[in-house]
This record gives sequence, structure tokens and C-alpha cells, in this order.
Amino acid sequence: MANTTTAASPPAVRSRHEICELARLVNCGECWQVPGKPCTPEGDHVARFGRAMRRGLVTGPELIVVLQTLDAFTNTTIVCDVPGGVS
Ligand SMILES: [Zn+2]
Repeated sequence: MANTTTAASPPAVRSRHEICELARLVNCGECWQVPGKPCTPEGDHVARFGRAMRRGLVTGPELIVVLQTLDAFTNTTIVCDVPGGVS
């Protein structure tokens, strides 16, 4: 008998803008910017997103959403935030 139970929809992956805001809740392991302030006017270091994930603020899939927009990156790469939350 087939299980027709509708699978719960997977947890929604937050928008890139929201993920950037969550990453900003931790200090940056690269430039040591304090929580609440972006690393640069353009965005935040990749290192900061890694820290946010280790703290449980963002999920692995969300980290991938952010990193897959970059061709290549290191901890010092800046992830540009998207004003208004549209990625
Ligand atoms: Zn930084």
C-alpha cells in the first residue's frame, strides 16, 4: 500500500538577504567586525557565514544558497547582500 501521506514541505530556505542578516548576528572571523554591522558596505566575508552556520543561525542548504552565487571563494571573499531581500 502506497504511502500517500503528503510530505511536509521542506523548511523554506530563507532569502539571501535574510541569510546575510543572520550571518551579521555573529562577529566575523576574518575581519572581526562586531555583530550587527556589515564587514564592508558591499557585504560580508564568507568566514562570517561559516561561523553563523556553526552557531546554528543558518542551515547548510542556506549556506549553499549564498556560496553557489560565487564562482570561487575563500574566507576573505565578500558576499554581497541584496537590498530588499530579492535574490
Ligand atoms: Zn568580515
